[in-house]
Amino acid sequence: MVRLDWRLYEAGYCTHPERATRQGAPTRTCEFPALVALLRHPTHGWILFDTGYSEHFLHATAAFPERLYRMVTPVHLGPQASLAAQLRSDGVDPGQIAWVVVSHLHGDHIGGLADFPQARVACSREAWDDLQARSRLGALRIGLLPALLEQWKHAPPHWFEDRAPVPLPAPLAAFGAGRDLFGDGSLLLVPLPGHAAGHYGALFDDGQGPVFLVADASWSSQAIRDNTPPPALVTAWLGSTGVYRHTLAQLHALHLAAPQVRLVPSHCPEWRPQAQP
Ligand SMILES: [Zn+2]
Repeated sequence: MVRLDWRLYEAGYCTHPERATRQGAPTRTCEFPALVALLRHPTHGWILFDTGYSEHFLHATAAFPERLYRMVTPVHLGPQASLAAQLRSDGVDPGQIAWVVVSHLHGDHIGGLADFPQARVACSREAWDDLQARSRLGALRIGLLPALLEQWKHAPPHWFEDRAPVPLPAPLAAFGAGRDLFGDGSLLLVPLPGHAAGHYGALFDDGQGPVFLVADASWSSQAIRDNTPPPALVTAWLGSTGVYRHTLAQLHALHLAAPQVRLVPSHCPEWRPQAQP
């Protein structure tokens, strides 16, 4: 089995009431990190799973109507806090990133994409087709910033759906077929529908067991442990409440049946790099 080394980065964070992400949670305002995974494949090299916030995101949301995005979820991105800046300070030239895997097209996941122009990008065609069908305001209303993806019209990414469907390992059988990005089983893309169109997670093994990056299928590990979805208002606004809850229930069942699978949501405070031992 091909194993991938990995670590998480936090590329900025936003704040909003905890209750918007988990029914019954306190109404206090919480910080939600934009986490990004840096993976290392023995032959394909450096891979990113999402890109967090960046100066490009701030630029794209500087003026109205896009500024509304930042008013709904205030964004904090300190100097040198972008993913590209952090990679540089860790000795990884952003130009060395070979692949960027995009879980879905929300601004806090593709915000840093423009910092890796030479990387191959992989994304679901379903997400892109959905975006293309929306107006600028219609896209903004659900957290999409088409201006950040202008170049895809000329140079489309590698579509997940063009990869052969493969069966997932037994504990994940309920999630249906995955897509094998490199054809060697090292990185399987797993559909996690409900949060947004074409929303995917990524499964790999780091030598200590499986790691399942679940993106925004849950805002926190707590919500997976408790099987507590966000209020219906939030999930209906972004995607489909019924489908979202079905996916979350599957993650909850996976957590109970296979606790050795590490489930990593993109915005979970427990997974912030500074929260790790
Ligand atoms: Zn999202």
